[in-house]
Amino acid sequence: MSYNVAIDGPAGAGKSTIAKAVAGKLEMVYVDTGAMYRAMALYMLREQVPPQDTEKVIEKCRYADITISYEDGIQVVLLNGENVNDFLRTEEVGHIASVISPIPEVRKKLVELQKELASGTDCIMDGRDIGTCVLPNAQLKIYLTASSRVRARRRYDELAAKGEAGDLQTIQADIEERDYRDMHREVSPLKRAEDAVLVDTSDMSIDEVIAVISEMCRRSRKA
Ligand code: C5P
Repeated sequence: MSYNVAIDGPAGAGKSTIAKAVAGKLEMVYVDTGAMYRAMALYMLREQVPPQDTEKVIEKCRYADITISYEDGIQVVLLNGENVNDFLRTEEVGHIASVISPIPEVRKKLVELQKELASGTDCIMDGRDIGTCVLPNAQLKIYLTASSRVRARRRYDELAAKGEAGDLQTIQADIEERDYRDMHREVSPLKRAEDAVLVDTSDMSIDEVIAVISEMCRRSRKA
């Protein structure tokens, strides 16, 4: 049986940075499910489908073939055969992803792919509904969070490092809006699974979080 770790939490909690680093240390595969929702969002953007037009999104999502492959341990998202990794991490695509992700038809398609990936490999998967819906039997579940202020600050610093100016208050408001949508949608809302370990990273450095979670994984993998 494969060994699976589920990491859920709100936008900007550091899930992908942490999950990627821990997976590398423990020689596990890292599965970034947000990237799959982002690929679907990119498809809608390219096809000029307004994300609020649910019927159109449902109709179009059938034509978005999203698959995952790995190159040198890095997850590559293929959208109808094209590597779209470089187009996924923009604010616009993230925003559209959070608007279309509540649609059951979109989720069903991506959750099936996620379950299939996890059944065949030891992996750390991050997202919003991994511990609650995608991998309810994961051997370890972590709910990673931080205050919206801290998450906005991290995002602001990330943008500044790339030479992109951002406004801290706008970033924080966007994060809070996205949290609200993710936590209040009808289908698979973001919430802590009952058996998930809560890790609040507000006052922790990335290295500290990586060390703590790596240790949790090592222990649970041995058990
Ligand atoms: O994690 P990331 O910011 O890349 O995710 C983008 C959006 O995709 C989230 O705001 C959320 O609405 C959606 N998502 C989801 N379920 C997941 C992963 C992401 O609904 N498992």
